[in-house]
Amino acid sequence: AAASLGHSVIPIVNKLQDIFAQLGSQSTIELPQVAVVGSQSSGKSSVLEALVGRDFLPRGNDICTRRPLVLQLVQRKRKADGTDEEWGEFLHLPGKRFFDFNEIRREIQAETDREAGGNKGVSDKQIRLKIFSPNVLDITLVDLPGLTKVPVGDQPSDIEARIRTMIMSYIKLPSCLILAVTPANSDLANFPMFIIAGYRTIGVITKLDIMDRGTDARNFLLGKVIPLRLGYVGVVNRSQEDILMNRSIKDALIAEEKFFRSRPVYSDLAERCGVPQLAKKLNQILVQHIKTVLPGLKSRISAALVSVAKEHASYGEITESKAGQGALLLNILSKYSEAFSSMIEGKNEEMSTS
Ligand code: GDP
Ligand code: MG
Repeated sequence: AAASLGHSVIPIVNKLQDIFAQLGSQSTIELPQVAVVGSQSSGKSSVLEALVGRDFLPRGNDICTRRPLVLQLVQRKRKADGTDEEWGEFLHLPGKRFFDFNEIRREIQAETDREAGGNKGVSDKQIRLKIFSPNVLDITLVDLPGLTKVPVGDQPSDIEARIRTMIMSYIKLPSCLILAVTPANSDLANFPMFIIAGYRTIGVITKLDIMDRGTDARNFLLGKVIPLRLGYVGVVNRSQEDILMNRSIKDALIAEEKFFRSRPVYSDLAERCGVPQLAKKLNQILVQHIKTVLPGLKSRISAALVSVAKEHASYGEITESKAGQGALLLNILSKYSEAFSSMIEGKNEEMSTS
């Protein structure tokens, strides 16, 4: 029941966000979003891709993620004929559907270069991408540049502070969940405090497959090294070699499962191991979170409704079409406001989202 509630709530929140944006309203909804943070090449983009189940992000040993990528996953109903149509759309290219996910990667790279230059420069200007798919959880994910210390290429000398500030601007939002990604083959206790302080952080330990022989991340996953209220999940993503050999995410998930099955040291930690467990954990936390913020959302929607109504009343002689648009938005808002009310009162868990 909890999972289906999440599926019906989050699309509505996303839709409200869109409506507010169309209204040009300053009253933004703080969407529960998930930001991925950690050091460079720790596997952040790999974790995001695995959660989405598609290959589309620039990944590699070098600095690949140089602008915040805000990724809104939108769950589409499966078509009657069973085909899975999946596509991406960028905010900077409205109306253009990308069905080829390699093309999405190329566009992210090109758009990164347009803003941040071709030589490792970093910019805090977002790239916004929506992925429509029947195979995703409805959440907003933010892929962020990695924490770094030494400037390279065109990076300014204060790159460390800049990236830190950029990351903070996302994770300071009370509605932001943090996936703190750290590779198991580095010093696990090296997590920056500013990330793990607080209650909204899930630890994600990557690269369990390339730890020193004879070592394991058991104590870390159990929270015995650095306790996190939301706990840890250990994962195995594709290696650079896998990427070069075009290994699919599906194969990588099978390999991950096999990895954990063949390691007795992790056998009693099944719910802390693997990308599917991470997805499950995230969904549960999001559902909890949304339940908590619903009352606040509701009052903000009401306030926005009042201001839209006033605006609408003052349209008067303004063009017919604009007035029509205002009325339409007003209708949509009223509909969702009612839906929210009944949901808060627990009357209606299965809401139409179309
Ligand atoms: P990001 O900079 O944090 O976004 O890291 P990326 O996702 O780009 O990954 C950096 C490099 O580490 C890539 O070459 C990945 O293939 C590799 N990598 C990431 N996760 C794992 C893992 O769990 N195991 C192995 N062997 N390699 C990984
Ligand atoms: Mg990255």
